Amino acid sequence: MMPGKILYFSTNGNAPPVNFSEALLKGLAPDNGLYMPDHIPVLSYETWVNLSGKSYPEIAFTIVRNFLEGEITDSELHQLTLDAYNFEVPLEKVYDRKYIMRLDQGPTASFKDFAARMMGRLMQYFLQRQNRKMLILTATSGDTGSAIASAFYGLDNIEVVILFPEKEVTPRQRKQMTTLKKNIKTISLQGKFDDCQALVKQAFMDQELAHLELSSANSINIGRLIPQSIYYFYAWTQLASVKDAEPVVFSVPSGNFGNMMGGLLAKRMGLPVRKFVIATNENDEVPVYWRTGYYNTIIPSRNCISSAMNVGHPSNMARVIALYGGIMDEKGNITREPDIRQMRKDIYAVSISDNETTTILKETYRQYGVLLEPHGAAGWAGLKQYLKDQPSDNDPEQLAICLETANPAKFPEEIRNLLGIEPELPPSMEGLDLSEESYDKLNNDYAQFRDYLKDRY
Ligand SMILES: *Cc1c(COP(=O)(O)O)cnc(C)c1O
Repeated sequence: MMPGKILYFSTNGNAPPVNFSEALLKGLAPDNGLYMPDHIPVLSYETWVNLSGKSYPEIAFTIVRNFLEGEITDSELHQLTLDAYNFEVPLEKVYDRKYIMRLDQGPTASFKDFAARMMGRLMQYFLQRQNRKMLILTATSGDTGSAIASAFYGLDNIEVVILFPEKEVTPRQRKQMTTLKKNIKTISLQGKFDDCQALVKQAFMDQELAHLELSSANSINIGRLIPQSIYYFYAWTQLASVKDAEPVVFSVPSGNFGNMMGGLLAKRMGLPVRKFVIATNENDEVPVYWRTGYYNTIIPSRNCISSAMNVGHPSNMARVIALYGGIMDEKGNITREPDIRQMRKDIYAVSISDNETTTILKETYRQYGVLLEPHGAAGWAGLKQYLKDQPSDNDPEQLAICLETANPAKFPEEIRNLLGIEPELPPSMEGLDLSEESYDKLNNDYAQFRDYLKDRY
C-alpha cells in the first residue's frame, strides 16, 4: 500500500520536506541534514513474484519508480534505467548456497557506478526540464572521482570539475578521470586530498561563484541511495525461491554505509532479509556501537588496506539511526535514541582486521578459486564470522550473498603480493593505460582556483 506521495525530510528536522527532484538537486538539506523518504513503499507479493526472471534495468525501474511518483514518466524512467545499467551483475557461487555478487562490471569497476550512473541521469532529466545548468565540483582521493566523472560523462546541462591531489592517486585512477574529456575537466592539485576538499568547500561558500549553481554529487545525495537498493532485489530474484519469500543473508563491506542503507531500504520495501552482516575494517566505531550502545567517532580514521572503508564517522550513520527512530547530528551526537534492539536483530556488525582480510583473500582463492579484492574479502570474512556465531544459520541450505564492491584489477599490487598472480583487467579498464590524458595543474591557491572556474564557466 502506498499512503500518498513520498516526500523527503531532513534528518536534522529543521528544514521543510521536499519532493524527490528537489532533494536530488539540493544534495544536502538547508539545515545540513540528510534527506530521507517520509515513508517507504512496501511492494506487494504479486510485484515481487513478477520481478522473478526480470532483467536488471526492469527491476531498477520497478523499485525506483515508487520513490519519484509523478515526477518522471514511465517511458522516460525506463529509458533511463536501460541507459544506466548496460553491464552485467555476475553472481558467483563459492560453496553450497553461499555466493559473491560482483558489482564491479560497470565503467569504473566499482559498485559506486550503480549509484552514480542513475543519479547523473536523473539530474540531467530534471535539469533539462527546469531549463537549468549545474556545475559539479568534486574533490577525490581516487575512486569517487572516477565514478562521478564516468557517470556524468557526455550528459547535457551538467559540467564536472574534479580536483585530485597530484601525488595521492594511482596512474590508473587518474586515467579513469583524465581520459574522458568533453564535459569533464580534471585538475591535478599540488597538495593533499584535504587541500582539494578545502578548495571545493570554499568555492561552495563563495558568493562570486553563486551563479554557477555548484553541486557536489557526493555520497550523501538521496539520488545515490535509492539505486543502491536495486541489486539486493536483483540478487534475490536470481538465487532465492521467490514464491516462498525465501529469506537471505547479505554481507556488506561498509565505509560510509551508503551501500548498507540501500539494503535496509530494500528490507523495508519487503525484501525478505534474514540478516545483514556489516563488515567494517579496523575503523570499528559502528561494531563498537552495536556492542555497547556508545557511539564514538574515530578521528583521524585508521589506515587499512580496504582503503575505501577508512571512515571514522560514516556519513550515512544519521540515516541508519533515523530509520530506527533516532536522531543523530552531523558530529555523531545521538540526541534521540533509536531502537537499538531492533537494529541488532536486523544487523550483525563486525570489524575485520587487515590481517584477517588478507588471510581470507588468500584462503578463498586457494580453496575455491574465487578471487576477491580487500573490500570484498572483508565482507566475506564478516559472513564467515557471522555463520560461526550463529550456528542455526550455518546450514548448507541457507542462502547467503556477499557483495564484492570493486574489481581485483583495481588493486594489482595487493593481489600480486598476496597471491603472486596478475589480476585480469575487466573490459572497462582495457586500453586505459594507452589512452591520452588531458588535465590542468593548479597550485594549492584558492584565488587561482576561483579564476579557473570563472574563466571557463
Ligand atoms: C566506497 C566503497 C566501499 C564502502 O561503501 P559505503 O557505501 O561507503 O559503505 C566499499 N568498497 C569499495 C570498493 C568502495 O569503493
